[in-house]
Amino acid sequence: MKRKMADRVQQLKPSATLAINAKAKSLRAQGVDVINLSAGEPDFDTPEHIKAAAIEAIKEGFTRYTPVAGIPELREAICAQIKRDYGLTYAPEETVVSCGAKQALFNLAQALFDPGDEVLVLAPYWVSYPPIVELAGAKPVIVPSSLEKDFEPALEALAEAITAKTKGIILNSPSNPTGQIYSSEFLAGVAELCQKNDLWVISDDIYDKLRFDGRGPENILSVAPALRDQTIMVNGVSKTYAMTGWRIGWAVGPKEVISAVARIQGQSTSNATSIAQKAALAALTGPQDCVSEMCVAFKRRAELLYEKLSQIPGLKLPKPRGTFYAFVDFSAYYGRRTPAGQEIKDSLSMGDYLLEEARVATVPGVAFGEDRALRISFANADEEIIKGVTRIGEALAKLT
Ligand code: PMP
Ligand code: GLU
Repeated sequence: MKRKMADRVQQLKPSATLAINAKAKSLRAQGVDVINLSAGEPDFDTPEHIKAAAIEAIKEGFTRYTPVAGIPELREAICAQIKRDYGLTYAPEETVVSCGAKQALFNLAQALFDPGDEVLVLAPYWVSYPPIVELAGAKPVIVPSSLEKDFEPALEALAEAITAKTKGIILNSPSNPTGQIYSSEFLAGVAELCQKNDLWVISDDIYDKLRFDGRGPENILSVAPALRDQTIMVNGVSKTYAMTGWRIGWAVGPKEVISAVARIQGQSTSNATSIAQKAALAALTGPQDCVSEMCVAFKRRAELLYEKLSQIPGLKLPKPRGTFYAFVDFSAYYGRRTPAGQEIKDSLSMGDYLLEEARVATVPGVAFGEDRALRISFANADEEIIKGVTRIGEALAKLT
């Protein structure tokens, strides 16, 4: 048949995180008492001064196309933020503003990877990395890690995964879904391998300010500045400023890569929304207390969630050190049966059971490449977290 859709969509799955969050929100809207611990977004509202900047932009008629790579003030503000956070100097031409960090990652994969290339993705990984790599025709090569090692892969495993076809690696620390932070030693080891094998490094720093150890952002360039010519940093306002719906993210790196990303974007989506860019500018240049306040709240909730989950027999998790996610091993309950006689086989059936029986939405770990675990978000009020975990404990106790 001629009228068939392209091969690239045949295996393409919807984003599990977006799908489950939407399902939980819709159940709630129908009046079902669902506790949504699946959300991959801060529960806080966007700070007022940021909203005000967007309203002002509308009133001023700032509603037309902007340069594809973003308004100059925002690109400068991104450089200033990188200087503040990482001590690195970049020029505005080395930045490109996209429709969320997700589009920045998508564009980068299109710009850097060819069919046949292999790209290292460290498991557990954010759901969208493998499809983003695959949509560029390249092959994600998954490098495993274990809960016992706080989900930091062994450098030997990484070295073994590198072949003549390996073209790049994607790093994300603090990590979605594990809530863990790679050690400086690990980053230095990765840097050495990347340098030796001449790999592109995509450093997804979207949670870099949501860390609970009081330290500032750290990525691979912090420990190995020599990697500058082969590294592209990705970040955005979604998580740091509670701005997921505004869709502003960016990539920062070597000028020729950034210019290629801008060409891709210029032939696909053009500039990110003009008024959202003004809002992002206010976020980066305005008062930063909102960031530390949200981080303090997430830290408190991480401790609360960790304490409550640790009281449930059989569950295992490393204490979250950043982000707003805990990654919890439920596998001690696999093989048991629900009151209706269904077997809990994997993270999907456990996720379904928790939604049906406990009315708690979580994200099955299989979406992140780790079927023993489920992701539990603590971007939620304390009472909801307590209620949610209590219900999870009660539902687990009913398994036989
Ligand atoms: N990277 C990671 C690890 C994420 O969790 C997210 C959240 N969706 C993104 C990138 C994309 O963020 P956004 O497109 O909202 O900027
Ligand atoms: N990053 C968030 C999550 O992992 C938001 C949803 C998405 O874009 O995948 O849940």
